[in-house]
Amino acid sequence: MNSATTNTAKDKLLFTPGPLTTSLTVKQAMLNDYGSRDIKFINIVKEIREQLLELAGLKQQEGYEAVLMQGSGTFGVESVISCAIPKDGRLLLLINGAYGERIARMVWIHSIGTSSLIFDEDQWPDEESVEEELKKGGFTHIAMIHGETTSGIINSLEPFGKLAKKYSCVFIVDAMSTFGAVPVDFKKCNIDFLVSSSNKCIEGVPGFSFILAKKDSLKKCENQSRTLSLDLFAQWQGLENGGQFRFTPPTHVLAAFHQALAELKQEGGVNARATRYRKNFEALRTGMRNLGFKEYLPSDKQGYIISTYYYPENPAFDFKVFYEKLNNRDFIIYPGKLTKASCFRIGNIGHLFPEDIDALLTAIAEVKQEMGF
Ligand SMILES: *Cc1c(COP(=O)(O)O)cnc(C)c1O
Repeated sequence: MNSATTNTAKDKLLFTPGPLTTSLTVKQAMLNDYGSRDIKFINIVKEIREQLLELAGLKQQEGYEAVLMQGSGTFGVESVISCAIPKDGRLLLLINGAYGERIARMVWIHSIGTSSLIFDEDQWPDEESVEEELKKGGFTHIAMIHGETTSGIINSLEPFGKLAKKYSCVFIVDAMSTFGAVPVDFKKCNIDFLVSSSNKCIEGVPGFSFILAKKDSLKKCENQSRTLSLDLFAQWQGLENGGQFRFTPPTHVLAAFHQALAELKQEGGVNARATRYRKNFEALRTGMRNLGFKEYLPSDKQGYIISTYYYPENPAFDFKVFYEKLNNRDFIIYPGKLTKASCFRIGNIGHLFPEDIDALLTAIAEVKQEMGF
């Protein structure tokens, strides 16, 4: 199978961290206009909320909630950051890439008391230094990224969730690029808030983010929002009372996401999706190694979501030209985002299959020959 069998829209293939290649049926789910009070639409929203909890192995009856928030993933993260931490709270922020830095920017804008621990982009956050910082006292919240899409590194959550519990901190996780394809044990990791979005591993189209939360932690967000539109508590209340978004919902995007969830289930759930992405990743790694490209991350730290490659050390290599030549062949790759190294990225996620990776590798081999590096 390759995406061409289900992608008769003849779009370019997106080897990116999102927006991603989606199936034709997900795109077709957007062909209806729903009124926001249409009972059919309200049921779509209700089922999405239930199914997101189910995907995480959680239940509403066990004290967990799913809240949907308009906007891209960043809006969801900012919603949690700007609502969960009270005025007198203090955040310990773990950073090893651009998405951690983005949270640092948020807390600065909202004047939230924060200590940031910055680790190298090819290193995991270090438990010992985190505990050392926590021992200083005064922290109420810990935030970190699960899959740092900057490099493709996957950070373990459990040790930091355990530390959050030990030091009575609320644990906030940006699992944007991993949720739905990298299993997470919510309870073992003591997660209070986890954020992801419609256009990553669930393979919907962009337009909203979602927050899975412990109900008790969510309740504490009442009257703490620093903005009107990103008020997480109010959004939750709106969805609970009448199933409505407070402001215009992205109706088409939600319909597409509902279909994407059905397709994820049909594929076999999180583990099956993980298997497909891992196959994509392995096909890419083998092929790129054969073509002489070098990986930025050591193998033990490299996740199967997105791969980072050094620019070849050859004057004939120019990323812009490389990108354009692949683009002309209908393959979209992604620039790098690292602070210290010149790299580009290739995503393994979306409605893509190992055959699509093979096609990309063939194109890369052609371009390499053409450019003469
Ligand atoms: C994609 C992503 C986000 C959100 O980015 P948006 O452009 O707002 O969708 C946040 N964190 C991580 C780790 C991501 O991969």
